[in-house]
Amino acid sequence: MYDVWKNALAEIEQQISTANFSTWFQDTSLLSTEDGEIKIGVKNSFYVKQLRNRYLDLIKTALENNNITVNNIDFEVQSGTKPKVRPREITPTDTVVKSRIKKVKTELTNQPTNTGLNNKYTLDNFVVGSNNDLAVSAARSIIDSPGDRYNPFFLYGGPGLGKTHLVQAIGNELLKKNPDLKIFYTPISHFYSDFIDAVKLGKGKEFNLKFRKLDVLIIDDFQFIVGKEKSQEEFFNIFNDLYQLNKQIIVTSDRLPSQIKSVDERLASRLTWAGAFDLQLPKFEDKCAILRAKAELMGAEIEPEAIEYIAENVNTNIRDLEGEFSTILLMSEVRGLTPLELIENGAVSVNKTSKLRPVSAKQIVEKVAKYYELPVKEMCGKSRVAHIKTARQVAMFLLSKELSLSTNKIAAEVGVKDHTTVMHGVKKIEKDLKLNFTLRDQIEEIKEKIYG
Ligand code: ADP
Ligand code: MG
Repeated sequence: MYDVWKNALAEIEQQISTANFSTWFQDTSLLSTEDGEIKIGVKNSFYVKQLRNRYLDLIKTALENNNITVNNIDFEVQSGTKPKVRPREITPTDTVVKSRIKKVKTELTNQPTNTGLNNKYTLDNFVVGSNNDLAVSAARSIIDSPGDRYNPFFLYGGPGLGKTHLVQAIGNELLKKNPDLKIFYTPISHFYSDFIDAVKLGKGKEFNLKFRKLDVLIIDDFQFIVGKEKSQEEFFNIFNDLYQLNKQIIVTSDRLPSQIKSVDERLASRLTWAGAFDLQLPKFEDKCAILRAKAELMGAEIEPEAIEYIAENVNTNIRDLEGEFSTILLMSEVRGLTPLELIENGAVSVNKTSKLRPVSAKQIVEKVAKYYELPVKEMCGKSRVAHIKTARQVAMFLLSKELSLSTNKIAAEVGVKDHTTVMHGVKKIEKDLKLNFTLRDQIEEIKEKIYG
């Protein structure tokens, strides 16, 4: 029995990410296979739900490939295989006290300044991962030498991925190095309203002069410039003046300037003269690292399994990740249970994507084909026609993201020869998603159709 399960696990390991495998399968055992009634031992009830919802098909196939008949699969919680963590290392009251202390501290240091900067955003508390390492290294270079290589610094990415944090951190670090620097941070919407007010009061010139005196100008959420022509013109003038004086300009946006409607073409190209840096969605490991750092910062104790559970289930952005994390910590304080105990008791159900809902590979393929009005056979055929190929790649992408299937498995589902084609397809969609908002919407719609 032991060997059968070992072989089945080896096969499962090939099909899913290492992180998923070690999270969900590490402490499982095969208890019985009599009459096709499979019994699998797991460490607690929380795992039963996860395994049943997400990996039933995978387990079935892996067992069948090892000559085991599978009629039904059941899970049994094995007593004695309690979570490895020692949940009682700190008491709930400890957590309350610690987080109170933390709050007092942050209140004292969070005094707003006339730079518009908030000094809670630092580089020290910005976790570097594969989702942001290039942007962070550019940021470091700016801190070393503002107005130099990365000028202007254009940072873009979806909401909640750390744009504001990173550009504010640049401002704070620069100020730390040189308190005399004239730095100003402003969301573009404030720039716009301040400009309108100044003009109304006949103080347009002063407004302009104030900006021209700056050493570093940080503009956040530039995408909201849409439709504000006069402000755009004013910004363009200020931009040119500062640029010529080698002053550092930093701009964030949720998309590239060329994709913001009604942005002057010359301004759009100038904004990305020194390149454009993006922040991407964090991967599982990045999310765990962020949560660990937050826990440390807050002085809160949380079990590694609870961190993995949150990281695994929040797939939207870092803001949501933090939100869920805080909710769980708060509930943990209130209920006097550790975060993992809460999760195991079903008191929290983090579900920021449709990942946990059961859906088969076949259903995904069918929905994608239907969405693009293609017969499944044609989509999963050999056609190189652009729209058919895109549909096929979207199917690959969703199979990978929603079901975490291996590239080999995906290749079989969409009828392509080898797994490198799948890797290429998934990467292509990932890349396109950053810039192609229509595709983004399409994929959201398909997901709604799949799960709706
Ligand atoms: P954006 O401006 O892109 O919408 P924010 O900068 O406001 O996103 O980030 C959202 C939240 O996530 C903030 O609380 C921020 O501190 C946190 N955050 C984002 N990226 C990181 C990171 N790499 N490390 C630590 N915290 C992060
Ligand atoms: Mg922001």
